[in-house]
Amino acid sequence: MSKSPKVWFLAPEVAPFAKTGGLADVAGALPCALKKLGVDVRVGLPFYGMVRDGNFPVRKVVEGLEVPLGDRILQGDVLETATNEGVPVYLFDRKGFFDRDNLYGTPDGDYPDNLERFAYFSRAALLFAKKAGFHFDVVHCHDWQTGLMPAYLKTLYSTDPFFSRVASVFTIHNMGYQGLFPADNLSISGLPASEFHPEGVEYWGNISLLKAGILYADATTTVSPTYSQEIQTPEFGMGMDAILRKRSADLYGILNGVDYNAWDPATDPHLAAHYGPGDMGGKRSCKHDLVNETGLDQRLMARPLFAMISRLAAQKGCDLLVQIAEDVLRLDAGLVILGAGENKYQQALVELGQKYSGNMAVRIGFDESLAHRIMAGADMLLVPSMYEPCGLTQIYALKYGTVPIVRATGGLDDTIEQFDPDSGTGTGFKFVDYDANAFLRQIKEALRIYDSKGAWAQVVKNGMRADFSWAESAREYVLLYEKVRQRYQSKITRGV
Ligand code: ADP
Repeated sequence: MSKSPKVWFLAPEVAPFAKTGGLADVAGALPCALKKLGVDVRVGLPFYGMVRDGNFPVRKVVEGLEVPLGDRILQGDVLETATNEGVPVYLFDRKGFFDRDNLYGTPDGDYPDNLERFAYFSRAALLFAKKAGFHFDVVHCHDWQTGLMPAYLKTLYSTDPFFSRVASVFTIHNMGYQGLFPADNLSISGLPASEFHPEGVEYWGNISLLKAGILYADATTTVSPTYSQEIQTPEFGMGMDAILRKRSADLYGILNGVDYNAWDPATDPHLAAHYGPGDMGGKRSCKHDLVNETGLDQRLMARPLFAMISRLAAQKGCDLLVQIAEDVLRLDAGLVILGAGENKYQQALVELGQKYSGNMAVRIGFDESLAHRIMAGADMLLVPSMYEPCGLTQIYALKYGTVPIVRATGGLDDTIEQFDPDSGTGTGFKFVDYDANAFLRQIKEALRIYDSKGAWAQVVKNGMRADFSWAESAREYVLLYEKVRQRYQSKITRGV
C-alpha cells in the first residue's frame, strides 16, 4: 500500500481557535487523531476576530496572497499556528472579512457577504497550498462554507497539474444549513455559468454551497450512520434527499468521536474537583459548586438536577424544553440551562428562570468553561432534538456520569442505549416521538431509576465506561481517503 494520504483539512471553525458548535470540536480533534495514525494533515480556517483574541502564537507565512473573487483580485495574509498535538494550522486573513464579532452572522441574521467571505476562504486555501508546495492528495472540507472547494477542483482547477490528482471528501455536519445565495451572485463564486443548473450548484433558482459540496466531492460523509440514512428521506433531507439518494454510493456515515483530552472529569481544568468511575466523590463537589455558582437552592443537592447545554434553535427541541420545564420543576427537581440562539427561546427560558429562580437557572451566552462545569455538576442531560446529525453533548455527558435523556434520532440514537433495569444494561433514556409527553415520560422513568440508587449507580457507570474516542472513526476516514485517492491514481495509470 502506498504512503498515507496527505490531507488538507478545511473547516469554518476549529476548536480551540474558533467555536460555535460541535463542528469545531470535530475539526479540532479529528486531525490530531489522523496525525496519530501517520497521516500528514494540515488544517485551515479563517482568521476570525475570535482567533486573534485567543492570543495563540502565530507567525505570518504569506503576505499578500492573491485570490480572485468575482472580477477582482483580493490580497490576504496567511498565518501559521499549531494544535497542542503539533498539527499545523493555517489561518486565512483578509481585511474586512473575518475580523468581526461573530463567525457567520449576528442574532438578527447571517452576514450579507457570506458568499464573498467563504468563496474567498475556499479559493485562498487551495491557492495557498499550491504556493506553499503542499502536495496534498485529499481535501477534506466541512459544511456549506467550504462546499465550493470540491466544485473548484472539478471545474476551475481540473486541468491544473497541481490539483488534477486531488480527491475531495465533503462532510455534512448539519443539513439544516445550506449556504443559499441569489443566483445573480454566481460570478462572486468564480464558477462558470455552465455550472448553474439542477445537476450543478443550482438549488431551486438559488446557489447552494451545501449542494455544491455534495455533488462535486468524490465522497460525502455525515457524522453518524443513522443520520446518513435519515437524510436520504424527505423527512430529514431538508429538500436535498433526492440529491443524496442519487449520490448514495458515495455517501458514508462515520460516527463522530470525542476528545477525552478536553472532556474528561478526571483531568478537566474547569472543574472544582475531579472524579472518575472508580471514585465519584468529586462529582458531588462539582454539583455543589454548580448549585452555588448558579444560585440554585441548596435543597437540590438531595434532588436530581437536569441540564441542557445547547444552541437555542428549533432543531434542538427547545419547544419541548419550554413545554416540559414547569412539569420537571413540579417533580421537585432542578433545571440548569446554558444556551444562545433564537430570541424567542432565549426570552421564554429567561422568563421561566426568573419565575422559578432557585429551582431553575438560565444562562444565555456561549461559555465554554461553564459548559464543562454544568456537564460535571448536573445529574442528567436533556437532548430532545428534532433531528441530530451526531450530537456531542450526550457523549460528553456519559463520560461525566451525567445520564442523558435523548430523542431517538440520528447520532443520539446511535450513541445512547436505553437503560434496562432488569439486565442493568444501557447508558441513558430515549423517547421516539417528537412530543412533550413522550419526553416527560422518559424524564419520569429516569427519576424512578434515580430514586432506586443501585440501578442509578449502574446506568452512570455504564455511561462512564463507554468509549467514543476518535481512534476508530479516524481509521474509517483514512480508509475513505485511500479509497478516493485510488480513483485518481488509477485514472493516471490509465492515462485519463
Ligand atoms: P451542534 O454542533 O449542533 O451545536 P453538538 O452537540 O454536536 O451540537 O455540539 C455542541 C457543542 O457546543 C458542544 O461542545 C457543547 O458543549 C457546545 N455548546 C453549545 N452551546 C453552548 C453554549 N451556550 N456555551 C458553551 N458551549 C456550548
